[in-house]
This record gives sequence, C-alpha cells and structure tokens, in this order.
Amino acid sequence: MMEEITQKLQLPVLEKGWVWLVGAGPGDPGLITALGLCALAQADVILHDALVSDALLALSPAEKIYAGKRAGVRSCKQDEISDLLVALAKDGKRVLRLKGGDPFVFGRGGEEAQALARARVPFRIVPGITAGIGGLAYAGIPVTHRDTNHAVTFITGHGADGKLTRLDWAAVSRGAPTLVLYMARKFAGEIADALLDAGRSAGEPAAIVANAARPDQQVILTTLGGLARAAQTAPTLSIIVIGENVRLAGELSWLASTA
Ligand code: SAH
Repeated sequence: MMEEITQKLQLPVLEKGWVWLVGAGPGDPGLITALGLCALAQADVILHDALVSDALLALSPAEKIYAGKRAGVRSCKQDEISDLLVALAKDGKRVLRLKGGDPFVFGRGGEEAQALARARVPFRIVPGITAGIGGLAYAGIPVTHRDTNHAVTFITGHGADGKLTRLDWAAVSRGAPTLVLYMARKFAGEIADALLDAGRSAGEPAAIVANAARPDQQVILTTLGGLARAAQTAPTLSIIVIGENVRLAGELSWLASTA
C-alpha cells in the first residue's frame, strides 16, 4: 500500500545518509502527512519527541531513540540531538527526526536543520499540522474567521531560558485580534495582565485547548479576565487562544470533550 502511494503520488524516497525532519501533527496519529508515513515506513532510525504518538511509532520496526523532554526535564540537550542526527546520517542511515506538530513552529527544527546544513548532510523538511491551528480545529475554533479576525499572532509563552517571553505586549495587544499561545499555561496570569494593561477587554473570549486532538482532549472556555484562574487547573499540554473567534466553539465543537 505504502509503495503504491509513493509511486502514484510520486513521493520522494528517504535515501541512505539523509535526514527527514518530519512533523507528526498534534496528537491524533491520523494527522500525519503521506510523506511522514513514507518516512516511517522507510527509516532505519527514528529520533522522536514526547509529543509523538506511540501508535505512530509502533508502525515502524526502526530503531527508536527518545530525544525529548518529560516533565520539564531535558533528557537530551539540543546540541546532542543535532550531533546525533549528523552522526547517524554520516553512518549511512536513513534518519527520521519526528516531532510533534510542525517541526518549524516552536519546535527547534530550524536549529536542527542548520546543524545538518552546516555538516553538509542532505535533508528534507516535511511540515506537519501545528497544534495552534489543528488543535484549535479539533476544538471547533477556526484560527481565522471572516467575521472575527483577519489576522492571527502565534506566540510562545516562554523562551529557551524558561522565563516569560520578552515581548512588547502592548504592541501584541494592538496587533492581531486573535492570539494563539504555545507553552503559555504557566505564565497565563502574567500574559493576561499584560494584555489587560494594554487595553484588551476582560470579557474577551479565551479558551484553553488541552491535550488537543488526543482522546483526553479538554476545551476550557473562559475569558481574558478568567484565564489565569482557568489555567491553574488546566492540564500541562495546552494551547491558549484569545479572541472573538473562540465564540464559534459553541456552535462548531464536533468532538466529544471530557471537560
Ligand atoms: N512544534 C509543535 C509545538 C512544540 S512546542 C507544534 O507545531 O505544534 C510545545 C507546545 O505546543 C506545548 O507546550 C503546547 O503549548 C503545544 N502543544 C503541542 N501539542 C499539543 C496538543 N496536542 N494539545 C495542546 N497543546 C499542544
């Protein structure tokens, strides 16, 4: 079947000595792309993050190396991962680097690709569905909607130093009507305060989409004023979305929620 798909869609083959940096999508294993599935079928070795579903990994007989973070503990440093990718490729392996969501969205895929480029290892980027778009879709929240927002801002709540992202929050607040925040649960209170100080309204709809596109998905509907409190009890793996488009969740929610 996979061979037929590869042939009919004229998909490239994962060659020896190559690294494919692939996005697995957010949670639901069905959200991986055809190219991603091809890579799973062809890889000799897979380096994966904690966010990649076990069901996907189980499809492949390849050697699997866990290179992620669990409970905030970094089990593998970024440089070590990049070095390992280079070493495996130079060893002639077909290497699949599998990441949750999209590899180039807050996933450090750019840094890994830079390391490969500098080491002259051939690579391919296979985009995936990012949690801030696909995860919202699983909550019935269109990331853009004609009646509510013509723009959207994607933000990470904290940087590599683990502190609240240094951003001009007043400018963020005046910018796109819809804000989608990754890795922001811990700083939800500070972020909400900064946006309120900058003039956003406390009654503005907000949602926390936790474990999006997973069997334990929870959609917590709140407001900007209620965000800090809602975040306190939300599960760790959460996307926060602030904006009028969140109201559509009432009408468009299509997946049974355990919340
Ligand atoms: N590259 C990934 C993001 C990695 S950063 C992507 O494109 O989706 C990790 C953050 O993504 C988490 O802290 C969380 O904010 C968000 N995230 C990833 N998967 C998620 C999911 N299934 N449900 C909710 N949030 C998710």
